[in-house]
Amino acid sequence: MSKDGDEAKKRAAKKRREKRSPTDAEEALRESEGRFRRYFELGLIGMAITSPTKGIIEVNDEIYKILGYERAELLRMTWAEMTHPDDLAADVAEFNRVIAGESEGYVLDKRFIRKDGRIIYANISVKALRRADGSVAYFVALLQDITERKAASARLRRAHEELEQRVIDRTSQLAATIEELSKEVAERKQAEERLQEYEKCVEGLEEQIVVVDRDYRYLLANRAFLNYRGLKREQLMGQQVPDLLNPGVFEQVAKKKLDECLQGKVVRYELRYDYPHLGARDLFISYFPIEGPSGVDRVACVLQDITERKRAEAELQTAQAELAHVTRVATLGELTASIAHEVNQPLGAIVTNGNACQRLLARATPDLEGALEAVDAMVTDALRAGEVIKRMRAFLRKTVPEKVPVNINEAIRGVASLVASELVRQQVSLRTKLEEDISPVIGDRVQLQQVMLNLSLNAIEAMSSAAGQSHELLLSTGQSGADEITVTVRDTGRGLDPQDGERIFDAFFTTKEGGLGLGLSISRTIIEAHGGRLWATANEDQGATFQFTLPAQATG
Ligand code: ADP
Repeated sequence: MSKDGDEAKKRAAKKRREKRSPTDAEEALRESEGRFRRYFELGLIGMAITSPTKGIIEVNDEIYKILGYERAELLRMTWAEMTHPDDLAADVAEFNRVIAGESEGYVLDKRFIRKDGRIIYANISVKALRRADGSVAYFVALLQDITERKAASARLRRAHEELEQRVIDRTSQLAATIEELSKEVAERKQAEERLQEYEKCVEGLEEQIVVVDRDYRYLLANRAFLNYRGLKREQLMGQQVPDLLNPGVFEQVAKKKLDECLQGKVVRYELRYDYPHLGARDLFISYFPIEGPSGVDRVACVLQDITERKRAEAELQTAQAELAHVTRVATLGELTASIAHEVNQPLGAIVTNGNACQRLLARATPDLEGALEAVDAMVTDALRAGEVIKRMRAFLRKTVPEKVPVNINEAIRGVASLVASELVRQQVSLRTKLEEDISPVIGDRVQLQQVMLNLSLNAIEAMSSAAGQSHELLLSTGQSGADEITVTVRDTGRGLDPQDGERIFDAFFTTKEGGLGLGLSISRTIIEAHGGRLWATANEDQGATFQFTLPAQATG
């Protein structure tokens, strides 16, 4: 259909409306009633036609449903009697404006009182149908029950308000929490930053460093710690101290010390710890408390491996003992030298007097008196020399030997280390045959070592002068009875001259150039002072064997 055609139709319809009388309009309405009815009854909207003079003249089914009155009842009623008194004024005012020609209709939400007394909300749309003179012939009212909608929107509003309140409450709650959290986060960040700082500082240190929390959980560990443990960093994180330590170590030691530190104290202690991969290590452990926002909440642990230091200390102690020993040996050496000097003087005088005596007696007329004087001087000198030796023996006896349990095997090991350089120099090999579980002897370790040192040095000397033979020094110990041990020093040297026999133990007996002949004599004195015996035997094949016994400490 063309646009012009539309316009023409509209104009014709308008003309018809204008031409119509009030009766026409009424008729037209009635004519279309069937159509209206069908149309409105399809929908959920109530419809009523009201005459300003006759009141309600038509209603559709929806109206009965909304208001609860029968059609017949409604047709006898006025809108005013069904309207809630509080909403009447607004409705009447609008109605009057239409009657007065000020408006063609109105839309309004108002309350109705139903037949059953229940108040309902309705949205009404009122439209005036006017006669040609402008007076209102009918009002067509459309009515929709919005009670539910209103209630729903009220509920919604309430819900909304509640929600809003809840949101407000929650927000303020959240705000507080967020504030707290952000504080905590900041603190944690600070703590983390501090941790990272620590981490950076300690990563490369040779000491093992860990930081643990109040639950003994590892928070940080440096490379050294991981290396000692043979662990990767990921394997450590989340673990607790008791997970890692050897059984018993946590309960018996570490826990107590950590707890002490968590009280705010710096704790230090030493521990020998058996690492699965490294074996036993001596550790010096320090715990330092770390303050958090609410007191001490972490412990920084520093583990220093002092195994080497300890070993060095022990070595130093041995070295010191050896030094003391060497000093004493040296002192004895000096003593014997000065004794020798003192003895050499009378011996020299004896020789001089002996020579004089020979000369005096060899004369044609022997000078007996002179010879007698010389012999007297010789006797005096010999007595002087004897006196010196007596003094020396007295000195040795006077040095009251220490009486402590001595492990003779350990004493021999000490001697072996003392003669080591001499062995190398003289190309002598050393063999030791030390009986294990040998009873300790009671005595003076240094003096006994001195004996063994003398015997060993003699043996080495005896081998150095016996060229071309295999040179072996054998040091052995053995239990020769329940309460006696025997120490043997055997060499493959030039051996003993049978003629010398026991004389080798005499003071000043020596076959060596520059020898003092005091070593064996002193050694025998020492061994006898310990209640033992010292003797020498010639080996069947080669060399000599010196042996001594010592009473052993009764065992069991
Ligand atoms: P020195 O060693 O000063 O001679 P000693 O009293 O220690 O004094 O020894 C006395 C002597 O005993 C030695 O000069 C040597 O003749 C002999 N003697 C000692 N030990 C041995 C040995 N292992 N082998 C052979 N002879 C030895």
